Amino acid sequence: MTLPDTGLEARITRSPGPAARRRPAWHAATVASVAAETPNARRIVLDVPTWPGNDPGQHLDLRLTAEDGYQASRSYSIASSGDAPSVLLAVDRVDGGEVSPFLVDAVEVGDALEVHGPLGGWFVWHPDTTARPVQLIAGGSGIVPLAAIATAHADAGDAAPFRLLYAVRTPEDVFFRAELDRASDAGVEVTHVYSRTAPPGSTTPAGRLTRDALAAAVFPPDAGALVYVCGSTPFVEQVLRWLGELGHDTTDVRAERFGGS
Ligand SMILES: Cc1cc2nc3c(=O)[nH]c(=O)nc-3n(C[C@H](O)[C@H](O)[C@H](O)COP(=O)(O)OP(=O)(O)OC[C@H]3O[C@@H](n4cnc5c(N)ncnc54)[C@H](O)[C@@H]3O)c2cc1C
Repeated sequence: MTLPDTGLEARITRSPGPAARRRPAWHAATVASVAAETPNARRIVLDVPTWPGNDPGQHLDLRLTAEDGYQASRSYSIASSGDAPSVLLAVDRVDGGEVSPFLVDAVEVGDALEVHGPLGGWFVWHPDTTARPVQLIAGGSGIVPLAAIATAHADAGDAAPFRLLYAVRTPEDVFFRAELDRASDAGVEVTHVYSRTAPPGSTTPAGRLTRDALAAAVFPPDAGALVYVCGSTPFVEQVLRWLGELGHDTTDVRAERFGGS
């Protein structure tokens, strides 16, 4: 079949599209590097030779297999994006948890594990030709996929106005400090809310995120921002409630819940 000369044929031939190219599958992975991210969290780079690449905001399922054959799997957001055959993860230790203490305290360079992905087609971001504002709202380790989005925005030289509200316990608990500084240099307005300890010299005392603090930091409802919220399930539910009360269209908000009660 010959298509009229609209350029469409060339585009179809040259670009199979993310959905076709990045179908989720199981992949063998090797731990390439580990480093302390915070006193309670670790950044882990996995080499995944068959990885098809992933979009900013996507996640994967990570499966561990013990010597006796026992398996455990958990979902982890991907802090990196693009076509490279590797992924960057950041895992926070949940005390008493089965998988996260192992990943934070025990996994070593060279260890083999398996990942299934890339996963998630809704909680993703692409440079937006309409320059629609983007509001990112993270609680704790919920920063992981939002850091991927903020970094991709900075790297793309994307023109959309971006804001990040990051609720975290103390300054020591901040993930991806260098990456967020780079995003900030690229125009992302970053607001931290510290629930337990504020940095020295801070004019705002430490305290849990409130509806007023949320309203002060995020784009107003009439800005029509695309909103991404990520964190523990109670954090996400609270933020969604407040956004609704403040007049945001919460049917349009993209939310990722990490669990916990
Ligand atoms: C889509 C998705 C992406 C995720 N991305 C990340 C990520 O990038 N980094 C990361 O550190 N975690 C992430 N998580 C959470 C992760 O999947 C695990 O739930 C977490 O690591 C705890 O696993 P565990 O085996 O240690 O705890 P479990 O043995 O599963 O649980 C132990 C106890 O901790 C509670 N619990 C489980 N998860 C949490 C939580 N997140 N917060 C508080 N309490 C919890 C459980 O209810 C249970 O009571 C993500 C979850 C989802 C669904």
